[in-house]
Amino acid sequence: MSVTAVLEPPRSACFAEDLNVLGGFSDSYALEAPIVRFGDDVWDFRAVPDRPAWVVANHFIVRFDRIRQERWRSTVKELLCARLYPTHPAVAALPHHRRRPAPLGDITTRLLLYRQWLDWLDAHGITSLTEVRQAHCDRYLTGRSREISLGAISNQVFLPLREFADYGAILTDRYTEGFRPWGHRHAAHVTGYRGSRVNATPAIPPQVLDPLLSGALFFVETASTDILAARAEHRRLWAPLQPRGGSARITAENLERLADTLDGYRLQSRPLPLLRDARATPLDEPLAPINIRLIGRHARVRLGLTTITKQQQELLLSALRDVGAAPGGLHTAITEVAPLGSDTALAPWRDPIAPWELQYLTARLVAACFCTIAALSAMRYSEIVEIRPGSIEPLDDGISLIRWRLHSKLVKGQRHGGRPDSWQVIEPIVHAIEILERLHTNGPDDPVLTTDLCRTVARNPGHPIRRIGATTLLRDLIRWQNTDGARAGLASIPDVDGRPWPITTRQFRRTLAREIAFRPHGTIASKSSLKHVRANVTEGYWGPAGESAERFIDELDREEVAAREERARQRFDEWDQGQPIAGGARHRLEQQFTVIANDLQSFQGTLDEREQRLRKLLRRSAGNLHFGVLNDCHFTDPSQARCLKHLPLEARTGPLIAACQPPRCANASIHHDHLPGWRAVIAHTDELLNDPVISRKVPRHERERITQQRDKHAAVITAFEADA
Ligand code: SF4
Repeated sequence: MSVTAVLEPPRSACFAEDLNVLGGFSDSYALEAPIVRFGDDVWDFRAVPDRPAWVVANHFIVRFDRIRQERWRSTVKELLCARLYPTHPAVAALPHHRRRPAPLGDITTRLLLYRQWLDWLDAHGITSLTEVRQAHCDRYLTGRSREISLGAISNQVFLPLREFADYGAILTDRYTEGFRPWGHRHAAHVTGYRGSRVNATPAIPPQVLDPLLSGALFFVETASTDILAARAEHRRLWAPLQPRGGSARITAENLERLADTLDGYRLQSRPLPLLRDARATPLDEPLAPINIRLIGRHARVRLGLTTITKQQQELLLSALRDVGAAPGGLHTAITEVAPLGSDTALAPWRDPIAPWELQYLTARLVAACFCTIAALSAMRYSEIVEIRPGSIEPLDDGISLIRWRLHSKLVKGQRHGGRPDSWQVIEPIVHAIEILERLHTNGPDDPVLTTDLCRTVARNPGHPIRRIGATTLLRDLIRWQNTDGARAGLASIPDVDGRPWPITTRQFRRTLAREIAFRPHGTIASKSSLKHVRANVTEGYWGPAGESAERFIDELDREEVAAREERARQRFDEWDQGQPIAGGARHRLEQQFTVIANDLQSFQGTLDEREQRLRKLLRRSAGNLHFGVLNDCHFTDPSQARCLKHLPLEARTGPLIAACQPPRCANASIHHDHLPGWRAVIAHTDELLNDPVISRKVPRHERERITQQRDKHAAVITAFEADA
């Protein structure tokens, strides 16, 4: 007789099987955390209150069953428990433990990183962490470097591998005593990758952002009316039929209602609706492609192809002969707009809406609302998806000017549950949020931006609320705009470098910061004046706590430095190619460029090194560069600043671009890209002088002064016109 030994799964020496791994949340945040047992093979965090809305719902379910070795499964659980429960006595005694519970959204990601390392060890014949040597870590690093970017190496390789060492004292399986992958060397010293101080998120190019935002605003301001009305019609149609009204047995009543409804179709010359996948009409079954169920809903009669009576069939066939059939089905009228590039009369921006199209149209509307909020508020994705119903607060300042405050939560870098914050926003954002609130069907405490928005039927109560996948929705919106947008008067969104622009949610914030930094009047004047062109945005970041404001302004500051350096580089190139410069700062600028060019001539180095050298030389002067509509301002000599003439010298700390006098100031330089501004000024003056009504009202001496001014302006751009 043989006896088979049944091996007990290894038990943790530090954590009891029934320990609640969320104990750290109760200790650190006084949160009523649900029980999630350490010993369970699935940790389900879905009942934790205040979960971040940006985290994908299934990331709150942590499964350990894909770790094949029992000992390693237990080790990984211990490691994750230590991260979640830093106040546990065994963890608190470790020298390198976290002080706060790890964010719940990180747990699944961490598990994946641990599993990748353990799977690699398994594949290389290593069955215990005690066998791991530095050579294994190096080989793993080499393999991973081919799969992920160098910037991600520290987080995805160094940190997880080292955590097995840092928490080794409480782990079932551990590295040998004293071993820590790469010791205490910084990841950058090992990989040689220094990291870029520049924000790696690309800004959305203007040729993409402009039409995209127009499309989003079209949906928010125009199409939303039709889509919301069509949804309301659909809700009405699919309301339960009255017991008597829907009975197929009450033939006379049903027939009468159906006949009335079909008469209505005839009266309005409205074709009968086709089914979604209607194919060519079979000769023997002409009603097969017709959506007779929908016609029945309009007539409040239960209709089906198999249950239809002879008289009903005859009525429908007669109507089909009279009005024909077409896609659509809902009677909601479609708003008329001017199609793109057409002088013809206004026309509906799309065909009548079919019931099955509602969820796709709603998804586009949601994408448009998201795009409007993200592009015009610079909120992060994690902050936008925390918006809940009733988050808009109107602010009446007593002079009939209503402004709006949007309440949401800061999540990034905050403790569990985030921190309430507010953003001052502009009208299109308020419209977008009102639309989302009308689409919202969940509770008042649930976030509005969930997949439930696009449903035409209610979510099953047992199903989790899922956040929207904004990137997918935005790409669908772009696809629609490029195929059907022209009918709605929208320009298509061009490819960039031969490919559709890979839009992501985080690009909006970066783009706004960059747009503000590059535009004329781009200094953070809104710090001091809410009337400034940027006030709507920067003011929005002056929430009560101020932290978000400061961070966005820091971001703006960084973008401004980049913008100035970029502009200085552009000016040098233009000068190098022989393009003219005008304005009082011309000689100074030309001298400076000549010195730099001479320096570069004697420079020995690669092209990259030459570029770095050039940027370094330009950086010195770029710090004083400010952008205007008619000129660049090189604010190197405050005593010469015409815009500050009325101020004492010690108060002349920065230029007043709004009061700039470029033809008269020694700090102004004028370049090719300022030409449109000058031409517009001259054309406007000519229009004024040539207008018989206005010019009669202007006194003669004033006309002469304006004419002189106009000639001066024309003289400024003579060199450019000649060059052109
Ligand atoms: S007048 Fe214009 S160019 Fe001169 S310092 Fe002021 S802003 Fe700069």
